[in-house]
Amino acid sequence: MNLRTFRQQLLDKKPRLRRFLTKLEKTPPRGLQKMAEVADKETWKEVQCLDCGNCCRSMTPTFTPADVKRISAFLDMTQEAFREKWLYKDREGDWMNTKRPCQFFNKVDFKCSIYEVRPSDCAGFPHLTKKKTLDYIHVYKQNVEYCPATQRWVEHLEEMVKGK
Ligand code: SF4
Ligand code: SF4
Repeated sequence: MNLRTFRQQLLDKKPRLRRFLTKLEKTPPRGLQKMAEVADKETWKEVQCLDCGNCCRSMTPTFTPADVKRISAFLDMTQEAFREKWLYKDREGDWMNTKRPCQFFNKVDFKCSIYEVRPSDCAGFPHLTKKKTLDYIHVYKQNVEYCPATQRWVEHLEEMVKGK
């Protein structure tokens, strides 16, 4: 699924997928974790991040202190200069990107210019096999709006739960 198809289908699908996730949270089926892993494998047969890049375009990762240390060293900057140039502290005290799209996102080839040292949040995104799935439902509810992989993953879960 490419980004254009994703955006075309989003309005139709988002309310249904969010309702499904709410239901999942209230009455989780047996074997949910296993289903999440199977759905993850199916999802990545269908979605290519290099056709998309929407997370880098529309969202911000959280930069942990270790991320700031690693990335600023990679860029040959001090941590303070790095934070000052690119980040702000949000209400929870987390360091986030000031800009969207992310300053490290290449809009031509959709690649990350700091891929080897990217924030751990980016490396794990969209966190589809997080243990345990139930603790991340609120994250998936938000991400169905931005991430085609999350959308397909929720759809696979929906099919599996219906087929039980
Ligand atoms: S650091 Fe790289 S992977 Fe993370 S949002 Fe920016 S461009 Fe995307
Ligand atoms: S993680 Fe999701 S939003 Fe980011 S590039 Fe991959 S499919 Fe797109």
